Amino acid sequence: MLFGIGNIPWSLIFSDNRMKFFLSCFFTVCMTFVQAQDKKMCISVDDLPVVSYGIEDPDFGEKITEKLLSTFRKHEVPAIGYVNEHKLYKNGTLDQSMVHLLELWLKNGNELGNHTYSHMNYHSSAFGDYTEDIIRGEKITRQLTDEYKTPLKYFRHPYLRSGMNKEHADTLENFLNQVGYTTAPVSIDNDDYLFAKAYHDAFMAGDSTLMEKIGQAYLSYMEDKLLYFERSSINLFNRNISHILLVHASLLNAEYLDDLIEVYNKHGYQYISQGEALEDEVYREKITRFGDWGISWIDRCALSQGKKGDFFKDEPFVPEFIRDLNQDNTY
Ligand SMILES: [Zn+2]
Repeated sequence: MLFGIGNIPWSLIFSDNRMKFFLSCFFTVCMTFVQAQDKKMCISVDDLPVVSYGIEDPDFGEKITEKLLSTFRKHEVPAIGYVNEHKLYKNGTLDQSMVHLLELWLKNGNELGNHTYSHMNYHSSAFGDYTEDIIRGEKITRQLTDEYKTPLKYFRHPYLRSGMNKEHADTLENFLNQVGYTTAPVSIDNDDYLFAKAYHDAFMAGDSTLMEKIGQAYLSYMEDKLLYFERSSINLFNRNISHILLVHASLLNAEYLDDLIEVYNKHGYQYISQGEALEDEVYREKITRFGDWGISWIDRCALSQGKKGDFFKDEPFVPEFIRDLNQDNTY
């Protein structure tokens, strides 16, 4: 017998109903492929050079940084790291081992951005103090980015607090534009820091069983978050936008980001730079509702479009045991 495609004879393929079935399968496969190709994500890492919860051993920070960077190399991720320069100083003196960690990011071909000097909350700061903190926060980073010819262009608001009302937000946005920064919102917001603190405590206690349990719960939570924001994006914009993921420079991400990126790979993501992600017109949507929020850009747009409780109802929660482990968390 002469076969058509695989083991399916041409006579079956071209009978009317079977042809329709075949074509529908073919287009479904094509669409899935196209959609998978279209899935894009920028990975941004906040609170550089490192989230160490008080561990001052330079080897600890270097281990976290090297692991993060080797994961980015492995998966060809053009990640960006947002810096809090106050972490570069020990007792008022510049700590070269911390500066070295930033250099590793640039040597690896990654970008750096400004996250204020002292991780200041715009909503609880005087405007002058906040803008001073932005400028103070670029002193060393700008020298390094100039040296490595990777311009310092992006600003990330600590706690994602970007203005309590339109005037408050616009005034800061104008200042940032004047001093050459583009703001970088987050579409996939999450509470990775709660998992990270619990993981760090388990590490300090030498409890590898608990570390593994936290790590696995983190992967599952982050996959749920991805799926939630994909659904939100499609509900609101009829498409999956170019996402911007926020994670922190913690031991947890050093050890689990490789697995997490495998999860994203499974969902068909490609990795893009901060600049490419911000080319998506979604990041120029008009925000008309404000409050003391530090939330996803998608949620900001949803609130601005008048979406209410139902739109947000399926947002994944941090598991109870992670919350319990964080009871004494003062971070
Ligand atoms: Zn931060």
